[in-house]
Amino acid sequence: MVQSAVLGFPRIGPNRELKKATEAYWNGKTSVEDLLKVGKEIREQNWKLQKQAGVDIIASNDFSFYDQVLDLSVLFNVIPERYTKYNLAQLDVLFAMGRGLQRKATDSEPAVDVTALEMVKWFDSNYHYVRPTFGKNLTFKLNGQKPVDEFLEAKALGIQTRPVLVGPVSYLHLGKADKDNLELDPISLLDQLLPLYTEILQKLAAAGATEVQLDEPTLVLDLPANVQAAVKKAYTYFGQQSGLPKITLASYFGTAVPNLDALKGLPVAGFHFDFVRAPEQINDVIAAIGANQTLSVGIVDGRNIWKNNFAKSTEFVNQAVAKLGADRVVVATSSSLLHTPVDLENEAKLNPELKNYFSFATQKLGEVVTIAKNVSGQDVSAALKANAEAIAARANSSFINDQAVKDRVASIDAKMSTRAAPFPQRLEEQKPVFKLPLFPTTTIGSFPQTKDIRINRNKFNKGQLSAEEYEKFINSEIERVIRFQEEIDLDVLVHGEPERNDMVQYFGEQLKGYAFTTNGWVQSYGSRYVRPPIIVGDLSRPKAMSVKESVYAQSITKKHVKGMLTGPITCLRWSFPRDDIDQQTQAYQLALALRDEVNDLEAAGIKIIQVDEPAIREGLPLRAGAERSAYQVWAAEAFRVATSGVSNKTQIHSHFCYSDLDPNHIKALDADVVSIEFSKKDDANYIAEFKDYPNHIGLGLFDIHSPRVPSKEEFISKIDTILKTYPAEKFWVNPDCGLKTRGWEETRLSLTHMVEAAKYFREQY
Ligand code: GLN
Ligand code: ZN
Repeated sequence: MVQSAVLGFPRIGPNRELKKATEAYWNGKTSVEDLLKVGKEIREQNWKLQKQAGVDIIASNDFSFYDQVLDLSVLFNVIPERYTKYNLAQLDVLFAMGRGLQRKATDSEPAVDVTALEMVKWFDSNYHYVRPTFGKNLTFKLNGQKPVDEFLEAKALGIQTRPVLVGPVSYLHLGKADKDNLELDPISLLDQLLPLYTEILQKLAAAGATEVQLDEPTLVLDLPANVQAAVKKAYTYFGQQSGLPKITLASYFGTAVPNLDALKGLPVAGFHFDFVRAPEQINDVIAAIGANQTLSVGIVDGRNIWKNNFAKSTEFVNQAVAKLGADRVVVATSSSLLHTPVDLENEAKLNPELKNYFSFATQKLGEVVTIAKNVSGQDVSAALKANAEAIAARANSSFINDQAVKDRVASIDAKMSTRAAPFPQRLEEQKPVFKLPLFPTTTIGSFPQTKDIRINRNKFNKGQLSAEEYEKFINSEIERVIRFQEEIDLDVLVHGEPERNDMVQYFGEQLKGYAFTTNGWVQSYGSRYVRPPIIVGDLSRPKAMSVKESVYAQSITKKHVKGMLTGPITCLRWSFPRDDIDQQTQAYQLALALRDEVNDLEAAGIKIIQVDEPAIREGLPLRAGAERSAYQVWAAEAFRVATSGVSNKTQIHSHFCYSDLDPNHIKALDADVVSIEFSKKDDANYIAEFKDYPNHIGLGLFDIHSPRVPSKEEFISKIDTILKTYPAEKFWVNPDCGLKTRGWEETRLSLTHMVEAAKYFREQY
């Protein structure tokens, strides 16, 4: 019999119960007991749901109050001293590491002021983990036994689970040395860590766990030889210990083939591989696994929302069964289902035709079970028939196919993706149009999204405000932002984006080919969840999306107002993409829609247009090689298709954040001016990397995630440092990113100081 397995289930609750409970606890509105209770209820619900769906192998310890990697840091006592000195309760230490903690002194407790640990994207997903940070005075020991407690909790409900932990090599490799310990290579801590893993695994076995899942997703990266050796060492070590549960070693989000040598002969019970992302690895992994080892076939997509194709998956799994026998094959989700929304049944407003093409986490449970049954020869004909009908309907749906869009993508040529003249000539033509001073000042686009804005948007969405009333309100917000920018004397103004709920959703809602959920939340980090829109079909722009607001803003000021759009790659990356055509084609479709918008803005008299691409770095394929090189070419080309339809005199800006950028990569976008997140990178080497960047650039001068207000002197000293490496004539002055999450008070002060600093330097040059 082929078994079914789920590698992890979303822990946010069907109606974001965890977010509500966590934030209420943070705000001091509820007790820790209340929070723990909600966590327990969600776990119970999740296990029961999976049991009822007939899943054979159900994960435990996939729950977390913040992040599963952070949980391990606390479990192993990898807690920098700055978090332990306040005698906080363990859960509060965990939250302080995840999000920082600032608390005034009270009669009984001293003040607390500690920043968060670094937060990093989990591979190429939009989930962020809290980076293990290894300080000097590290004492590895077990703090509690969360995995055991949660295993026992499920057991008490009569549900046998397979606890999941991030494995030791990935845990170390994804971590970093702390500031006080920079010479440390985290992987060198393996010897100290393995006994702790052993201890927790033995405790799990003693509690009744027969198997565990150790996640080693770093196996899909390019690994240096010492990390490959660490994989061998760790799992050989576990094989020598007694009293451990059976281990399934899981990799996901790509192919593990380049690291397969490290896996061969390891004494584990089985392996899991992601065949959604890398089906081509099937023969290699089958050849590599040992005579009695099992193969968990990740075939139900843990990263996307499309209904599985049962016929295709069955055929795929059968290849493994033919070689290994049914008892050695498991049908599984490709990764944890953490990255998918909880339940499609919560989508009352979704068009029923589209709904029939989707599958969220809850529906995916049924998918692994059905495929496993089908491969085992059980009768699931009714499910197969319904599935085949849905798959066929989607392929031929009028929602999906638009010949005009396909033809237009096919017509993209070099001329469409190249500005009429190279940058130096454009610059000369632009100078007399803009007459900008040295050190021109600007912002990245959004201004504070106040409560008032959200209330009015809600009213409009509920029909309590007419379109005219809402437009009037938005215009008054735009006017406020314009007047403010004039008052503090910024050079290039923005309209402030008050009309936008989200930088991708706002455009997606106006494009044909997108669908939206009302409750399709996915955890991004901690209590922050996102609701990615879904690209369902060929994309096109029925009418202008942003022209009205930009034109209004420009009409009330003599200064130049930047038009503001979200770029094709960011729209793609922050949506659930289609799985029936490649991402490149989807990016080009978006690029063409945006090109029309850029051209419309220009025609309406907007002379500076910014096209944001904060997600361009995260789209970079995880491994070096052909796919990555190809991405760099097509991602840049998509941006240029969107922005090359304008005259030399129109100035194109772009903006990047959230990542370490390679200046060589953004060079290919050929934007006239780029702004990048920079304030936390007080690193001369990083500035030097941009020295040869040919076009103009604004290195972000203050952190917009923090309410802290830098003084004029602080700005001056920052600019001074950068000027040691970076030429004044290319230098723009701006914040790290948009100001939408900030309050007005700190925004006013920070920007005022920033403009004063720019003026100071103008006098020097
Ligand atoms: N223009 C957007 C803003 O200012 C850019 C946001 C982003 O880069 N994440 O909010
Ligand atoms: Zn940004």
